[in-house]
Amino acid sequence: MLKQILRTLFLLLIGLLISACATNLAGRRQLMLVSENQAIEASKQAYVNTLKPFAEKGRIDSDPKLAALVQRITDRLIEQAEILRPETRNWDWSVKVIDDPDTVNAWCMAGGKMAIYTGLIHKLKATDDEIAQVMGHEIAHALLNHTAERMSVAMATQLGIGIYASRKNADPGKTALAAVAAQLAITLPNSRTSEAEADRIGIELAAKAGYDPRAAVSLWQKMAKVSGGAPPEFLSTHPSPKNREQALKKLVKKMMPYYLAAKQRQQGK
Ligand SMILES: [Zn+2]
Repeated sequence: MLKQILRTLFLLLIGLLISACATNLAGRRQLMLVSENQAIEASKQAYVNTLKPFAEKGRIDSDPKLAALVQRITDRLIEQAEILRPETRNWDWSVKVIDDPDTVNAWCMAGGKMAIYTGLIHKLKATDDEIAQVMGHEIAHALLNHTAERMSVAMATQLGIGIYASRKNADPGKTALAAVAAQLAITLPNSRTSEAEADRIGIELAAKAGYDPRAAVSLWQKMAKVSGGAPPEFLSTHPSPKNREQALKKLVKKMMPYYLAAKQRQQGK
């Protein structure tokens, strides 16, 4: 009897998983048990919670010049993101510079909530073009719906475990969802497939915004060479897809025309 119930539940779960798929910007089918809107909602809370400890110490946008620079760069990227995915015009985009010289990291949560740490900018001596590549890559993760996808996978795993153990805790509350959203956006590694997608869309956003695609290659090279202490957080959350450097170099060739056209447009202004 119990075996039969488990079997039925298992089949139901499989049915749910199959019906809960959606296609992302890269044309890949994704598991979507958590909708993008749910991920965006959870990320709002996650954003506030994540920034709070830094805000309390006055470590958000504490260098106004740097904050303005990052804002200018991301504004241009957002303009391109909204062309690529028009519904993101409704997103409440936001970017903050976190004053944390030891942390080499940056992220963009679902719904366009972004941050970059001063450690990334200073330790890498990142140029504007390289900052644009980092943030383009992060925005791409959000455009590609990677947070909702990873929340869905986490939930499916939980559901599976829950059914197996006949527990009833498959319905996480709002606070739990916010915690999961933060964890997935900030601390847990993306899959290599997601990385390859974000590299491709990110470099395109940056090129169309007038940022040199060659900076994507130099950015990852610099990232790998960061010296002193543990490897950068950014590398642990953004694992290298197969042949990242070669793949990026191929993309650079494709993206140069977009970059040159954007440059010309900007100079004509
Ligand atoms: Zn990534």
